[in-house]
Amino acid sequence: MKQFLNFINGEFVATGKTFDKRTPVDNRVIGQVHEAGMAEVDAAVAAAHAAMKGEWGRLSVVRRTELLHAVADEINRRFDEFLAAELADTGKPHSLASHIDIPRGAANFKVFADIVKNVPTESFTMTTPDGGTAVSYALRTPLGVVAVVCPWNLPLLLMTWKVGPALACGNAVIVKPSEETPATATLLAEVMNTVGIPKGVYQVLHGFGPGSAGEFLTRHPDVDGITFTGETRTGEAIMAAAAKGVRPVSFELGGKNAGIVFADADIDKAVAGITRSAFENCGQVCLGTERVYVQRPIFDTFVQALKAKAEALVIGPPDQPGVGLGPLISAEHKRKVMDYYALAVAEGATVVTGGGAPAMPAALADGHWVQPTIWTGLPESARVIREEIFGPCCHIAPFDTEAEAIALANATDYGLATTVWTQDLGTAHRMAAAIEVGLCWINSWFLRDLRTAFGGAKASGIGREGGVHSLEFYTELRNVMIKL
Ligand code: NAD
Repeated sequence: MKQFLNFINGEFVATGKTFDKRTPVDNRVIGQVHEAGMAEVDAAVAAAHAAMKGEWGRLSVVRRTELLHAVADEINRRFDEFLAAELADTGKPHSLASHIDIPRGAANFKVFADIVKNVPTESFTMTTPDGGTAVSYALRTPLGVVAVVCPWNLPLLLMTWKVGPALACGNAVIVKPSEETPATATLLAEVMNTVGIPKGVYQVLHGFGPGSAGEFLTRHPDVDGITFTGETRTGEAIMAAAAKGVRPVSFELGGKNAGIVFADADIDKAVAGITRSAFENCGQVCLGTERVYVQRPIFDTFVQALKAKAEALVIGPPDQPGVGLGPLISAEHKRKVMDYYALAVAEGATVVTGGGAPAMPAALADGHWVQPTIWTGLPESARVIREEIFGPCCHIAPFDTEAEAIALANATDYGLATTVWTQDLGTAHRMAAAIEVGLCWINSWFLRDLRTAFGGAKASGIGREGGVHSLEFYTELRNVMIKL
């Protein structure tokens, strides 16, 4: 049975306490995960500080960035192993992980290495009160030991999205992968050793949140900063932990994102776009669209077209040809999504399609499969419209005016992303300015340029990462002023 070990100070470490890792495809146990306790957290934090004071802390930026390029190359060399590990953990379609998760996992190291090497810091010259001159310039110094607490939906991609810039900036990281997806973070530890990343610079601690590795790590007084992706509720707990010692946090949290389709949109492209934003990764994407608003003249056409797309999605395991929808991550998450499917009906929804679990062949019967689901007819006050479900589902409602669409999109505590479909440039720009989100896609969705800012407004996050914005979190900017 596969053992998922912790990675502390360059060594793989077993603990006396393990829990099962099951595959979502058929709920079989595929590995044992070694849970880190307080002793392992203490050891990792001490090793990380030692690494910062040792060779890693003295490396030139050029050498550091060469090493990170080597990490990316080694991930690409072992691409098939990373892919297999991600598929076993998540059950997502092969086509999705091979095009997005693994390539982006590698790219995150190269992109941020290049940014750190090439982005200048500011400098100013001023006349002093005595008529002399002073020059100021800024130095970027690492934040220190950074805890990286990760979710299960895009495990390698979202973890490296933070580890890449953190290491490029010269920090040491301690990763706490989701308890649901231990594999790729552990595999990356092998890559770090192969490439020669010094001991203690990249470490992995497995376990859960409360009363386990997640809480112990984020409460540890010698952790200098916490970067977290996950649920808003968890973010609140971590923020409380970080308050002790006034330690900085960067949060990418939940969403209840609106997709808005105007009557002048290219309907085929809009339907294809919303099919992806509602159902990709079985709806387990923070940027996904669970609320769709369609301008009334095309409402019925759009609903029927999206229904046809949803019903055409092939549900199945990663390697099945043509598969478009994998399972949900766990039995617990399936229960949550199925509860929302029942709630939608109780709240008065019309079920356009789906609403239950599909019949699967006997070998897959214990997997966490659900049908892609579309509802109409709910009032905006319904819980199904207000709360993040994180499943392959959306509610579609009609709107008449641009002002109404803006009000509907903004009527949520969240503010992560939106996708707007229109051919009118004026409409596009006005919507982009008016919707309270960190990410606004026009005639597209989940299209990313890693140099741009990523993050959420309102309850969807704190801070921005991406491009130079990542440097703001992972470094301290020190101003140096010299009187000439
Ligand atoms: P989660 O918050 O349940 O868990 C995330 C991580 O936090 C896990 O590693 C977990 O063990 C850990 N954790 C839980 N409680 C903790 C605590 N008290 N202290 C320290 N660590 C703790 O989230 P999830 O279910 O893994 O992921 C799904 C959520 O993530 C959704 O809400 C989704 O919207 C969000 N998400 C957001 C983004 C984004 O970029 N904004 C991206 C992906 C996912």
